[in-house]
Amino acid sequence: RKFNVAVVGATGAVGEEVFRVMEELNFPVNKLIPIASARSAGSTIEFLNKEFTVLELTETVFEEQEVEIAFFCAGGSISEKFAKFAVEAGAVVIDNTSHFRMDPKVPLVVPEVNPDDIGLWRETGIIANPNCSTIQMVQSLKPLDDLYGIKRVDVSTYQAVSGAGKSGMEELVKQMQDFFAFRLDETEIKAFAHQIALNVIPQIDVAMENGFTKEEMKMVNETQKIMHKNFEVAATCVRVPVLRSHSESLTVTFKDGVDVDVNEVRNALENFENLKVIDDLPNKKYPMPIISTDTDFTYVGRIRKDVYASNIVHYFNVADQVRVGAATNAVRIGLKWIEMESDI
Ligand code: NAP
Repeated sequence: RKFNVAVVGATGAVGEEVFRVMEELNFPVNKLIPIASARSAGSTIEFLNKEFTVLELTETVFEEQEVEIAFFCAGGSISEKFAKFAVEAGAVVIDNTSHFRMDPKVPLVVPEVNPDDIGLWRETGIIANPNCSTIQMVQSLKPLDDLYGIKRVDVSTYQAVSGAGKSGMEELVKQMQDFFAFRLDETEIKAFAHQIALNVIPQIDVAMENGFTKEEMKMVNETQKIMHKNFEVAATCVRVPVLRSHSESLTVTFKDGVDVDVNEVRNALENFENLKVIDDLPNKKYPMPIISTDTDFTYVGRIRKDVYASNIVHYFNVADQVRVGAATNAVRIGLKWIEMESDI
Protein backbone atom coordinates (compact mmCIF):
# COMPACT_ATOMS: atom_id res chain seq x y z
CA ARG A 1 0.00 0.00 0.00
CA LYS A 2 1.00 3.63 -0.34
CA PHE A 3 1.49 6.27 2.36
CA ASN A 4 0.87 9.97 2.92
CA VAL A 5 4.41 11.34 3.27
CA ALA A 6 5.42 14.74 4.67
CA VAL A 7 8.88 16.28 4.34
CA VAL A 8 9.51 19.07 6.88
CA GLY A 9 12.37 21.21 5.56
CA ALA A 10 11.32 20.49 1.97
CA THR A 11 13.34 23.40 0.56
CA GLY A 12 16.62 22.58 2.32
CA ALA A 13 19.71 20.64 1.23
CA VAL A 14 18.53 17.40 2.89
CA GLY A 15 14.80 17.85 2.15
CA GLU A 16 15.37 18.34 -1.58
CA GLU A 17 17.48 15.19 -1.64
CA VAL A 18 14.79 13.20 0.19
CA PHE A 19 12.49 13.81 -2.83
CA ARG A 20 15.20 12.65 -5.29
CA VAL A 21 15.96 9.50 -3.27
CA MET A 22 12.24 8.67 -2.85
CA GLU A 23 11.86 8.91 -6.64
CA GLU A 24 14.87 6.67 -7.24
CA LEU A 25 13.95 4.04 -4.65
CA ASN A 26 10.24 4.00 -5.66
CA PHE A 27 9.05 5.02 -2.23
CA PRO A 28 5.34 4.14 -2.02
CA VAL A 29 3.91 7.68 -1.86
CA ASN A 30 0.15 8.16 -1.91
CA LYS A 31 0.07 11.89 -1.10
CA LEU A 32 3.18 14.08 -0.90
CA ILE A 33 3.15 16.97 1.59
CA PRO A 34 6.19 19.31 1.39
CA ILE A 35 6.47 21.57 4.44
CA ALA A 36 8.78 24.49 5.29
CA SER A 37 8.61 27.84 7.10
CA ALA A 38 6.30 30.73 6.18
CA ARG A 39 9.25 32.07 4.09
CA SER A 40 8.87 29.25 1.52
CA ALA A 41 5.19 28.38 1.92
CA GLY A 42 3.47 28.73 -1.47
CA SER A 43 6.61 27.93 -3.49
CA THR A 44 6.72 24.62 -5.34
CA ILE A 45 8.92 21.54 -5.41
CA GLU A 46 9.04 18.86 -8.09
CA PHE A 47 8.40 15.18 -7.50
CA LEU A 48 8.00 12.60 -10.29
CA ASN A 49 7.62 15.44 -12.83
CA LYS A 50 4.72 17.04 -10.95
CA GLU A 51 4.71 20.26 -8.97
CA PHE A 52 3.71 20.31 -5.31
CA THR A 53 3.01 23.44 -3.26
CA VAL A 54 4.99 23.86 -0.06
CA LEU A 55 2.79 24.20 3.05
CA GLU A 56 3.66 26.16 6.17
CA LEU A 57 4.68 24.16 9.24
CA THR A 58 1.94 24.43 11.86
CA GLU A 59 0.83 22.34 14.83
CA THR A 60 -2.20 21.07 12.91
CA VAL A 61 -0.82 20.43 9.40
CA PHE A 62 -0.04 16.73 10.10
CA GLU A 63 -3.59 15.98 11.21
CA GLU A 64 -5.18 18.05 8.42
CA GLN A 65 -3.09 16.29 5.76
CA GLU A 66 -3.48 12.81 7.36
CA VAL A 67 0.30 12.32 7.38
CA GLU A 68 1.48 8.72 7.97
CA ILE A 69 5.26 9.10 7.52
CA ALA A 70 7.02 12.40 8.34
CA PHE A 71 10.65 13.07 7.45
CA PHE A 72 11.92 15.94 9.61
CA CYS A 73 14.89 17.86 8.14
CA ALA A 74 14.51 21.43 9.34
CA GLY A 75 16.83 21.56 12.37
CA GLY A 76 16.81 20.33 15.97
CA SER A 77 14.65 23.07 17.46
CA ILE A 78 11.93 22.43 14.85
CA SER A 79 11.92 18.69 15.60
CA GLU A 80 11.87 19.42 19.32
CA LYS A 81 8.77 21.57 18.93
CA PHE A 82 6.83 19.89 16.11
CA ALA A 83 7.64 16.14 16.00
CA LYS A 84 5.09 15.50 18.74
CA PHE A 85 2.27 16.93 16.60
CA ALA A 86 3.13 14.51 13.79
CA VAL A 87 3.21 11.60 16.27
CA GLU A 88 -0.12 12.68 17.81
CA ALA A 89 -1.59 12.72 14.30
CA GLY A 90 -0.59 9.03 14.00
CA ALA A 91 2.56 9.41 11.87
CA VAL A 92 5.94 7.77 12.34
CA VAL A 93 8.62 10.50 12.47
CA ILE A 94 12.00 9.85 10.83
CA ASP A 95 14.16 12.64 12.21
CA ASN A 96 17.34 13.87 10.52
CA THR A 97 18.32 16.29 13.28
CA SER A 98 20.40 15.60 16.37
CA HIS A 99 17.53 16.34 18.75
CA PHE A 100 16.32 12.81 19.65
CA ARG A 101 19.42 10.79 18.78
CA MET A 102 20.69 10.06 22.28
CA ASP A 103 17.21 9.70 23.86
CA PRO A 104 17.34 6.12 25.22
CA LYS A 105 13.72 5.53 24.15
CA VAL A 106 14.35 6.56 20.51
CA PRO A 107 16.01 4.07 18.13
CA LEU A 108 19.05 5.46 16.25
CA VAL A 109 19.29 3.53 13.01
CA VAL A 110 21.59 2.79 10.08
CA PRO A 111 19.58 0.12 8.23
CA GLU A 112 22.69 -1.84 7.10
CA VAL A 113 23.97 -1.97 10.70
CA ASN A 114 21.10 -2.16 13.24
CA PRO A 115 17.81 -2.57 11.30
CA ASP A 116 16.11 -4.45 14.15
CA ASP A 117 16.24 -1.35 16.35
CA ILE A 118 13.51 0.13 14.11
CA GLY A 119 11.10 -2.15 16.02
CA LEU A 120 11.50 0.14 19.07
CA TRP A 121 9.75 3.00 17.22
CA ARG A 122 6.41 2.30 18.89
CA GLU A 123 7.58 3.65 22.24
CA THR A 124 7.81 7.27 21.00
CA GLY A 125 6.71 7.20 17.33
CA ILE A 126 10.17 8.53 16.42
CA ILE A 127 13.18 6.97 14.66
CA ALA A 128 16.38 9.06 14.63
CA ASN A 129 18.82 9.31 11.76
CA PRO A 130 22.44 9.52 13.00
CA ASN A 131 24.95 12.27 12.30
CA CYS A 132 26.27 12.16 8.72
CA SER A 133 29.90 11.42 9.70
CA THR A 134 28.76 8.64 12.02
CA ILE A 135 26.63 6.91 9.35
CA GLN A 136 29.41 6.44 6.80
CA MET A 137 31.84 5.43 9.55
CA VAL A 138 29.67 2.71 11.16
CA GLN A 139 28.89 1.25 7.73
CA SER A 140 32.57 0.32 7.42
CA LEU A 141 33.12 -0.48 11.13
CA LYS A 142 30.32 -3.05 11.32
CA PRO A 143 31.88 -5.64 8.95
CA LEU A 144 35.29 -5.10 10.57
CA ASP A 145 33.89 -5.57 14.08
CA ASP A 146 32.15 -8.76 12.91
CA LEU A 147 35.47 -9.94 11.42
CA TYR A 148 37.95 -9.32 14.25
CA GLY A 149 36.32 -7.38 17.12
CA ILE A 150 37.17 -3.68 17.48
CA LYS A 151 38.95 -2.29 20.53
CA ARG A 152 39.43 1.35 19.48
CA VAL A 153 38.75 3.72 16.57
CA ASP A 154 40.66 6.95 15.82
CA VAL A 155 39.12 9.05 13.08
CA SER A 156 39.81 12.41 11.43
CA THR A 157 37.18 13.86 9.12
CA TYR A 158 37.34 16.15 6.09
CA GLN A 159 33.77 17.48 6.01
CA ALA A 160 32.13 19.27 3.08
CA VAL A 161 30.50 22.69 3.44
CA SER A 162 27.05 21.29 2.48
CA GLY A 163 27.07 19.64 5.92
CA ALA A 164 26.09 23.14 7.08
CA GLY A 165 23.15 23.22 4.65
CA LYS A 166 22.53 25.41 1.63
CA SER A 167 24.00 28.47 3.31
CA GLY A 168 27.31 26.60 3.82
CA MET A 169 27.58 25.86 0.10
CA GLU A 170 26.65 29.44 -0.81
CA GLU A 171 29.31 30.80 1.53
CA LEU A 172 32.16 28.77 -0.06
CA VAL A 173 31.08 29.75 -3.59
CA LYS A 174 30.77 33.42 -2.63
CA GLN A 175 34.20 33.44 -0.96
CA MET A 176 35.82 31.84 -4.04
CA GLN A 177 34.17 34.53 -6.20
CA ASP A 178 35.52 37.17 -3.79
CA PHE A 179 38.98 35.58 -4.06
CA PHE A 180 39.00 35.89 -7.86
CA ALA A 181 37.70 39.48 -7.56
CA PHE A 182 40.58 40.35 -5.15
CA ARG A 183 38.18 41.10 -2.27
CA LEU A 184 38.58 38.02 -0.09
CA ASP A 185 39.70 40.26 2.80
CA GLU A 186 36.20 41.83 2.85
CA THR A 187 34.30 38.55 2.43
CA GLU A 188 31.38 37.70 4.70
CA ILE A 189 31.98 34.99 7.34
CA LYS A 190 28.70 33.61 8.66
CA ALA A 191 28.17 29.88 8.21
CA PHE A 192 31.55 28.87 9.67
CA ALA A 193 33.84 30.13 12.45
CA HIS A 194 36.42 31.37 9.89
CA GLN A 195 36.89 31.90 6.17
CA ILE A 196 36.45 28.46 4.55
CA ALA A 197 37.72 29.24 1.03
CA LEU A 198 41.38 28.14 0.71
CA ASN A 199 41.36 27.07 4.36
CA VAL A 200 40.59 24.14 6.66
CA ILE A 201 38.84 24.68 10.00
CA PRO A 202 39.41 22.17 12.82
CA GLN A 203 36.08 22.96 14.48
CA ILE A 204 32.59 21.69 13.66
CA ASP A 205 29.82 22.59 16.13
CA VAL A 206 30.48 24.04 19.57
CA ALA A 207 33.23 23.35 22.10
CA MET A 208 32.55 20.85 24.88
CA GLU A 209 34.12 20.94 28.36
CA ASN A 210 36.38 17.95 27.61
CA GLY A 211 38.18 19.78 24.78
CA PHE A 212 36.35 17.95 21.98
CA THR A 213 33.65 19.55 19.83
CA LYS A 214 30.00 18.52 19.89
CA GLU A 215 30.36 16.99 16.40
CA GLU A 216 33.29 14.88 17.64
CA MET A 217 31.34 13.64 20.68
CA LYS A 218 28.36 12.81 18.41
CA MET A 219 30.67 10.41 16.55
CA VAL A 220 31.66 8.77 19.87
CA ASN A 221 28.25 8.47 21.50
CA GLU A 222 26.19 7.66 18.39
CA THR A 223 28.62 4.94 17.25
CA GLN A 224 28.33 3.16 20.58
CA LYS A 225 24.52 3.43 20.56
CA ILE A 226 24.12 2.18 16.95
CA MET A 227 26.59 -0.69 17.27
CA HIS A 228 25.58 -1.67 20.84
CA LYS A 229 29.29 -1.73 21.67
CA ASN A 230 31.42 0.35 23.99
CA PHE A 231 34.75 0.29 22.14
CA GLU A 232 36.77 3.50 22.36
CA VAL A 233 36.32 6.21 19.72
CA ALA A 234 38.30 9.45 19.34
CA ALA A 235 37.37 11.91 16.57
CA THR A 236 38.84 15.09 15.10
CA CYS A 237 36.26 16.81 12.87
CA VAL A 238 37.53 19.26 10.27
CA ARG A 239 35.66 21.43 7.74
CA VAL A 240 37.31 21.56 4.31
CA PRO A 241 36.48 23.62 1.20
CA VAL A 242 34.71 20.75 -0.60
CA LEU A 243 31.11 21.31 -1.72
CA ARG A 244 29.78 17.85 -1.15
CA SER A 245 30.80 14.45 0.38
CA HIS A 246 32.59 13.90 3.66
CA SER A 247 35.90 12.01 3.81
CA GLU A 248 37.30 10.20 6.83
CA SER A 249 40.73 8.82 7.69
CA LEU A 250 40.33 5.88 10.08
CA THR A 251 42.71 3.92 12.29
CA VAL A 252 41.02 0.84 13.72
CA THR A 253 42.66 -1.12 16.53
CA PHE A 254 41.34 -4.65 16.94
CA LYS A 255 41.33 -6.81 20.06
CA ASP A 256 44.73 -7.93 21.40
CA GLY A 257 46.19 -10.88 19.51
CA VAL A 258 44.46 -10.13 16.19
CA ASP A 259 46.78 -10.37 13.17
CA VAL A 260 45.22 -8.21 10.43
CA ASP A 261 45.05 -9.78 6.97
CA VAL A 262 44.45 -6.91 4.54
CA ASN A 263 42.77 -9.24 2.02
CA GLU A 264 40.31 -10.43 4.67
CA VAL A 265 39.58 -6.81 5.58
CA ARG A 266 39.05 -5.93 1.91
CA ASN A 267 36.70 -8.90 1.38
CA ALA A 268 34.67 -8.10 4.49
CA LEU A 269 34.22 -4.49 3.31
CA GLU A 270 33.46 -5.51 -0.29
CA ASN A 271 30.74 -7.93 0.80
CA PHE A 272 28.94 -5.44 3.04
CA GLU A 273 25.70 -3.86 1.77
CA ASN A 274 26.12 -0.45 0.09
CA LEU A 275 29.93 -0.36 0.54
CA LYS A 276 32.27 -0.21 -2.46
CA VAL A 277 36.03 -0.74 -2.25
CA ILE A 278 38.32 1.30 -4.52
CA ASP A 279 41.82 0.35 -3.44
CA ASP A 280 44.57 0.43 -6.07
CA LEU A 281 47.16 2.99 -4.96
CA PRO A 282 49.79 2.26 -7.69
CA ASN A 283 47.13 3.08 -10.29
CA LYS A 284 45.99 6.18 -8.34
CA LYS A 285 42.62 4.64 -7.51
CA TYR A 286 41.01 5.45 -4.15
CA PRO A 287 37.80 7.06 -2.89
CA MET A 288 37.40 10.83 -3.32
CA PRO A 289 34.46 13.23 -2.90
CA ILE A 290 34.12 13.66 -6.67
CA ILE A 291 33.53 9.90 -6.94
CA SER A 292 30.94 9.55 -4.15
CA THR A 293 28.92 12.71 -4.83
CA ASP A 294 25.37 11.98 -5.99
CA THR A 295 25.67 8.27 -5.21
CA ASP A 296 24.17 6.10 -2.47
CA PHE A 297 27.38 4.19 -1.69
CA THR A 298 30.09 4.58 0.93
CA TYR A 299 33.49 4.11 -0.69
CA VAL A 300 36.50 2.64 1.13
CA GLY A 301 40.15 2.49 0.07
CA ARG A 302 43.80 3.06 1.04
CA ILE A 303 43.46 -0.09 3.20
CA ARG A 304 46.80 -0.87 4.88
CA LYS A 305 48.14 -2.72 7.89
CA ASP A 306 49.99 -0.71 10.51
CA VAL A 307 53.78 -0.74 10.21
CA TYR A 308 54.24 -1.50 13.94
CA ALA A 309 51.18 -3.22 15.40
CA SER A 310 49.65 -6.34 13.80
CA ASN A 311 46.16 -5.57 15.20
CA ILE A 312 45.80 -2.14 13.55
CA VAL A 313 44.43 -1.26 10.10
CA HIS A 314 44.21 2.18 8.45
CA TYR A 315 41.81 3.19 5.66
CA PHE A 316 40.02 6.11 3.97
CA ASN A 317 36.25 6.38 3.71
CA VAL A 318 34.12 8.76 1.57
CA ALA A 319 30.35 9.24 1.13
CA ASP A 320 27.88 11.85 -0.09
CA GLN A 321 26.75 13.05 3.32
CA VAL A 322 23.56 14.72 2.05
CA ARG A 323 22.48 11.34 0.64
CA VAL A 324 24.16 8.46 2.55
CA GLY A 325 24.55 10.66 5.64
CA ALA A 326 21.01 12.00 5.64
CA ALA A 327 18.37 11.63 2.88
CA THR A 328 19.19 8.10 1.67
CA ASN A 329 19.58 6.74 5.20
CA ALA A 330 16.23 8.29 6.15
CA VAL A 331 14.43 6.89 3.09
CA ARG A 332 16.02 3.45 3.69
CA ILE A 333 14.73 3.60 7.29
CA GLY A 334 11.28 4.44 5.88
CA LEU A 335 11.37 1.46 3.50
CA LYS A 336 12.51 -0.90 6.29
CA TRP A 337 9.80 0.46 8.58
CA ILE A 338 7.19 -0.25 5.90
CA GLU A 339 8.56 -3.78 5.43
CA MET A 340 8.55 -4.49 9.19
CA GLU A 341 5.21 -2.86 9.88
CA SER A 342 3.45 -3.94 6.69
CA ASP A 343 0.67 -5.45 8.79
CA ILE A 344 -0.53 -1.94 9.69
P1 NAP B 1 19.16 23.80 5.14
O1 NAP B 1 19.67 23.56 3.79
O2 NAP B 1 19.53 25.06 5.84
O3 NAP B 1 17.56 23.65 5.12
C1 NAP B 1 16.75 23.95 6.24
C2 NAP B 1 15.28 23.62 5.93
O4 NAP B 1 14.50 23.82 7.12
C3 NAP B 1 14.66 24.51 4.86
O5 NAP B 1 13.72 23.75 4.11
C4 NAP B 1 13.93 25.55 5.70
O6 NAP B 1 12.81 26.10 5.03
C5 NAP B 1 13.45 24.71 6.85
N1 NAP B 1 13.14 25.54 8.02
C6 NAP B 1 13.98 26.40 8.64
N2 NAP B 1 13.32 27.01 9.66
C7 NAP B 1 12.06 26.51 9.66
C8 NAP B 1 10.91 26.76 10.44
N3 NAP B 1 10.91 27.64 11.44
N4 NAP B 1 9.77 26.07 10.17
C9 NAP B 1 9.75 25.19 9.14
N5 NAP B 1 10.80 24.91 8.36
C10 NAP B 1 11.95 25.57 8.61
O7 NAP B 1 19.63 22.64 6.17
P2 NAP B 1 19.98 21.09 5.87
O8 NAP B 1 21.43 20.96 5.63
O9 NAP B 1 19.02 20.55 4.88
O10 NAP B 1 19.75 20.44 7.31
C11 NAP B 1 18.48 20.11 7.85
C12 NAP B 1 18.68 19.23 9.09
O11 NAP B 1 19.33 18.02 8.69
C13 NAP B 1 19.57 19.85 10.17
O12 NAP B 1 19.10 19.47 11.44
C14 NAP B 1 20.93 19.22 9.91
O13 NAP B 1 21.73 19.16 11.08
C15 NAP B 1 20.50 17.83 9.46
N6 NAP B 1 21.51 17.16 8.64
C16 NAP B 1 22.12 17.79 7.59
C17 NAP B 1 23.06 17.12 6.83
C18 NAP B 1 23.76 17.76 5.67
O14 NAP B 1 24.70 17.14 5.14
N7 NAP B 1 23.37 18.94 5.22
C19 NAP B 1 23.38 15.79 7.13
C20 NAP B 1 22.74 15.16 8.19
C21 NAP B 1 21.81 15.86 8.94
P3 NAP B 1 12.73 27.62 4.48
O15 NAP B 1 12.99 27.53 2.99
O16 NAP B 1 11.30 27.97 4.75
O17 NAP B 1 13.72 28.44 5.22
